[in-house]
Amino acid sequence: MNAPLPDVLKQHLIDPEICIRCNTCEDICPVDAIEHDSRNYVVKADVCNACGACISPCPTGAIDNWRLMLKVDAFSLADQYSWDELPPDQPPLDAAGEVLVAEQPVVLEQLQDEPKSSRRAPWSAAHPYVNLYGQQQPAVATVAGNYRVTGEDCDSDVHHIVLDFGTGFFPVLEGQSIGVIPPGTDEKGRAHYARQYSIASPRDGERPGYNNLSLTVKRVTTDHAGKPVRGVASNYLCDLKKGDAVQVIGPFGNSFLMPNHPGSNLLMICTGTGSAPMRAMTEHRRREGARNTGRLMLFFGARTQAELPYFGPLMKLPKDFIDVNLALSRAPGEPRRYVQDRLRERSADVAALLKSADTCLYVCGLRGMEAGVLDALRDICAAHGLDWGATAQAMQAEGRIHLETY
Ligand code: NAP
Repeated sequence: MNAPLPDVLKQHLIDPEICIRCNTCEDICPVDAIEHDSRNYVVKADVCNACGACISPCPTGAIDNWRLMLKVDAFSLADQYSWDELPPDQPPLDAAGEVLVAEQPVVLEQLQDEPKSSRRAPWSAAHPYVNLYGQQQPAVATVAGNYRVTGEDCDSDVHHIVLDFGTGFFPVLEGQSIGVIPPGTDEKGRAHYARQYSIASPRDGERPGYNNLSLTVKRVTTDHAGKPVRGVASNYLCDLKKGDAVQVIGPFGNSFLMPNHPGSNLLMICTGTGSAPMRAMTEHRRREGARNTGRLMLFFGARTQAELPYFGPLMKLPKDFIDVNLALSRAPGEPRRYVQDRLRERSADVAALLKSADTCLYVCGLRGMEAGVLDALRDICAAHGLDWGATAQAMQAEGRIHLETY
């Protein structure tokens, strides 16, 4: 029989081979047990309480690794930072050669105080495939197209990139993402890790019936503080030529998915390249035609019209198909408008959608907008006899509220 001993712990580790460095775990950890360097995400063994809050939000499952360890032998942060792959799992044995048991429980679900993003998909979502390809055996796609979708007269260089998988099996759904592995090595001579991008095309391909998908990628030339940097993956992708081969891993994501039942409504709020999944969902609904009579309402923020990706095609969509609300923050001669301002202006229509159990809400884009958007939704509910806390909780429980901000 296994003997429980107090000096054994179930150490939480992150698999560097699968992790796509999206920062979700570090953001969500309630006790700040997760940190990262330019390469790896690691867990502080003495801080992690195995609450499980980070497990289901992780898009790849890299987070869900546990090792039974004697506390004295726990892997240090330096150990974890040095890994390219997890060490073999060798449970500690007692003197009789039996496996020691950890006392610390692993709780895989933890309710958050504030209703946030759902960790489950809407009930009528299609079943997603995830993690079909990893860093060791990526899929190889061919670039079928690469063109700029922001105006030539603005600084924001956003590209629409089409990747074709030929006869390879790479099934995706709207709202999922992929990882792209840039060629070459980092400053330490190690292979680059994959960067995550949302898929901007519907399940049946950027071109209907083709085995391809598209991405919306902004060329990164400065960091968050405005200091000049050259984004490794974004510059690689934006410079790709037709016919180039690209290493792809994934697909990822099993909750940020769209409902499929007739009459389901999509309330979509995004900024900049956060529009990628909204484009995918909108295009899927457009291709469905009259088969789905649900409403589509989009709030889309950008600095100027020229900086708004896909402005031309978006404006061509029929008004009775999608209700488009643009929020331009730096349009010359106009007051600054953010998506939350436009939400408030359309308060009655937003409230009507929130009242419906057939409405799914998607927020994607800049991290900074999340608080403002949630405040606006709270105020809109209050003004229309709805309790935001109860509404958000129901939406969360039913997989109808999804936030993806970076
Ligand atoms: P951006 O052009 O920098 O910003 C879009 C708009 O959001 C601007 O009008 C900006 O206004 C406004 N904004 C700034 N702070 C705001 C706030 N607190 N509340 C509301 N609006 C605010 O956007 P971007 O560079 O494309 O970035 C989009 C984000 O989406 C990135 O973080 C990206 O990582 C993420 N994302 C990308 C993908 C993808 O597949 N490429 C997928 C998902 C998410 P001002 O600048 O005038 O203040």
